[in-house]
Amino acid sequence: MRATTVLNKLLRLPGLWVRGLRFEHEMLIVGIKSRSRKPTCPRCGWRARGRFEIKTRQWRHVAIGGIRTVLEGPIRRLRCQRVVTEQVPWARHGSRFTRSFEGITAYLAQNLPKTKVVQLLGIAWETVGSIAGRMVQEQLSERRFDGLRRIGVDEISYRRHHKHLTVVVNHDTGHVVWVAEGKSSEVLRSFFEELGSERLAQIQVVSLDLSAAYQKAIREAVPGAEMVFDKFHIAQLAQRALDEVRREIQRNLSNDARKPLKKPRWALLKNPDRLTDKETEKLAGIQQHNEPLYRGLPAQREPTRQSGNPHAKHAEWELRSWLQWACRCRLKPFVRLSRTVRKHLDGILRASITGLTNARLEAMNSNIRILNHRARGFHHPQNLIAMVYLCCSRIQVATPRLG
Ligand SMILES: [Zn+2]
Repeated sequence: MRATTVLNKLLRLPGLWVRGLRFEHEMLIVGIKSRSRKPTCPRCGWRARGRFEIKTRQWRHVAIGGIRTVLEGPIRRLRCQRVVTEQVPWARHGSRFTRSFEGITAYLAQNLPKTKVVQLLGIAWETVGSIAGRMVQEQLSERRFDGLRRIGVDEISYRRHHKHLTVVVNHDTGHVVWVAEGKSSEVLRSFFEELGSERLAQIQVVSLDLSAAYQKAIREAVPGAEMVFDKFHIAQLAQRALDEVRREIQRNLSNDARKPLKKPRWALLKNPDRLTDKETEKLAGIQQHNEPLYRGLPAQREPTRQSGNPHAKHAEWELRSWLQWACRCRLKPFVRLSRTVRKHLDGILRASITGLTNARLEAMNSNIRILNHRARGFHHPQNLIAMVYLCCSRIQVATPRLG
């Protein structure tokens, strides 16, 4: 069997002939040519005739036997409504990768951590994002908006936490349905506009953080929907309040007294009955030197525990007694937090009666955390947005067969 015939079988790619092969810089370069005589317009599918401008292009393909494999062949330009590069069956329009390579990339991106994907494929994370973009563009459909009744709005940060995306989740399926750049009320408003009035009328519950911007957009667009503030965001605020108290104390301490305060957060956040001996000792140290911080300790737990309680009445009582403590505790960050909590009290308490279970809210929250992690290393928001859709919406990627 001739080498080119073997390669034809190995590549398993539609619409091309293998013309030859060569090795260059430890790469296998396979010469190919399109089977079709007439080039196809990528926009309308029209097949052109006549003479064409021809250039040579390379497409990265799945490695054969662990050797980087590149297809190289002519690509034609045709004049339809304007001059465009032809559509080839083995690659998406504008891509320098074959469809098989992009399929594997998308599958890995859905299932493996970022560093593994980058290592396995030898391409940059940003490139993985642009591949995700092409897959998502092909598959994202308006049907994801059907049947939206309970949604969650949240933000994720990227570029060292200076930039944000707004993410909308369908609580009933757990899927991300919408993502856009920014976290202003205009951004969320554009989601509601995209939904349209008929679908908007179906929305009953919106969960969100305490962001005033989101609240504004929700009040305007879906005044009938109930707003629910989930405990994870309040826990986050409480943690920040505790950190603030800790830093304040640290500034006024001698070196010796400062020691037990280093990284005490994990110990502070644990359940008291799950602490190891060492951690208990550490906490005792904190208590000894830093009485105000220790006072903040039960405080920072309390508001987070309330919506985890199955008995709404009891939860309400717990939260109210925490509020009483917090507004009088003389720890400024906690006084401020108590004001915020009081302002949103209805929405916080509502979490337990709207049928939005903690499991659903937690699922959303852990998704957001994963996305926050994956967001690192992206410079172009459109690539990050594509990655969010690829990993958390209903985009289906076929499992590649490597054996
Ligand atoms: Zn055309």
